[in-house]
Amino acid sequence: MSTTPSPSSAMNLFASTLDFFDHAAAYTRHAPGMLEQIRCCNAVHRINFPLRMDDGSIRVVEAYRAQHSHHRLPVKGGMRFSPDLTEDMAMALAMLMTFKCALVGVPFGGGKGGVRIDPRAHSEAELERVTRRYTADLVQKRFLSPSLDVPAPDYGTGEREMGWIVDTYKTLHPEDINHLACVTGKPLPLGGIPGRREATGLGVFIGVRECVNAEADMRQAGLEGGVEGKRIVIQGLGNVGSHAAQAFHEAGAKLVALAEIDGAIHNPEGLDYDAVVEYRRRKGTILGFPGACDLADPAEALELDCDVLVPAALQNQVHADNAPRVRARIIAEAANGPVTPEADAIFQQRGVVVIPDMYLNAGGVTVSYFEWLKNLNHVSFGRMTRRYEQNVYRSLFEALEQLHGDRDDGQALLPIGGRISSPPSPGAGEKELVLSALEETMVITSRQVHERKQADNLPDLRTAAMVLAIDKIAQTYEYMGIFP
Ligand code: NAD
Repeated sequence: MSTTPSPSSAMNLFASTLDFFDHAAAYTRHAPGMLEQIRCCNAVHRINFPLRMDDGSIRVVEAYRAQHSHHRLPVKGGMRFSPDLTEDMAMALAMLMTFKCALVGVPFGGGKGGVRIDPRAHSEAELERVTRRYTADLVQKRFLSPSLDVPAPDYGTGEREMGWIVDTYKTLHPEDINHLACVTGKPLPLGGIPGRREATGLGVFIGVRECVNAEADMRQAGLEGGVEGKRIVIQGLGNVGSHAAQAFHEAGAKLVALAEIDGAIHNPEGLDYDAVVEYRRRKGTILGFPGACDLADPAEALELDCDVLVPAALQNQVHADNAPRVRARIIAEAANGPVTPEADAIFQQRGVVVIPDMYLNAGGVTVSYFEWLKNLNHVSFGRMTRRYEQNVYRSLFEALEQLHGDRDDGQALLPIGGRISSPPSPGAGEKELVLSALEETMVITSRQVHERKQADNLPDLRTAAMVLAIDKIAQTYEYMGIFP
């Protein structure tokens, strides 16, 4: 195993992911057989099935589901609808899920799948037929169930598709009392959880906030600490990018450019994100936004002058060709695999801080885990205890007031540590509980990654995150033993 990512010209996400793994694995002391077991993809299901189009014609579509690691079950990972999806890509994305879950302490193996179609080219009725047919096949082949494999939204899918999935599963298995837990990212009335929609984007924001408040990272990047005033470029305003943009905007960062599939908008003075959202709602595009200049090629946005570049669309966006021209000092990998190993090596040489995908976009799977638990518990978080907690809190507060007089300095009584904002107050609603647990997960994991990087003198945050994840997975295998 090499100690630096080997150069490879092919922009294959699977090869890149293996490259990153091998690079990090060389810093661990695990036996070669153990590393090989952690590295390999445990199972892949590939199917072709007919889709009846609205005009009556038949089109054959290809779909996949990769289960990278069975060291914990169920496996967990998104469902992607994209014309670029391949079996290799599903395997790579599943592998990233394995490390992501281990890193943030979510007890799942990694999975990923989807259908090789362009959702923009199909009607809602066609997408529903594809989703239901694909789901039925996965259920039948034991590639989808609350205990074995639990999908979630990804590129090209959202709550609507997750709703079709749970309904199909329930129709096939009405006896399964846990049927709601067969998929996460569902609409609220179908067993979803408040906060899941914004979880990944918010997690991205929290991860960047931790980075710009870490002295070592800011020394490396040559930037002042703090989010306020940081110049941000975001590529992709879908589920992840739009919620990240909102959080940066609200925290006082300057969104200098936003890129979508049909072009980008740029204003070095900063874009009013709320106004952009309203403009896009009316016009169906961000192009032509008043006061900004349009860039016909969205890839140009990646090279604009800024402090933080947030690729939140697809893999392989920053590669050997454009990386030398990228001017950001922090690359925040909101998408999965947006930076190739060649680009990563260039950034390392130039002291650019790369916040790795397996950490930065883990907010989605973290809140998916809470949704899965809620579905298995058949009760929402806080429902049984809210009133009791409120009463206890009120009595305690009144007793303290009698002892010390009024105290209202906004300080949390029990700070959890780091830069976590106040913990939720007793009697908090489900969304508050969920977002607070998300924040705690992102802050604590950031600290662990930084500490590991420093303790083992590792070259970058990606290697540190991967080493941490490998150690946790190896530990599970060691305690589990290897099945004879
Ligand atoms: P999405 O489909 O909601 O949004 C993607 C957006 O990117 C779309 O608006 C699309 O038009 C835009 N886009 C596509 N190509 C582009 C280009 N070349 N330039 C600019 N914009 C472009 O997808 P999403 O759920 O936001 O996922 C985005 C990325 O984040 C993917 O890599 C996904 O795997 C990853 N991710 C998503 C989640 C989640 O919870 N949805 C969780 C973890 C990781």
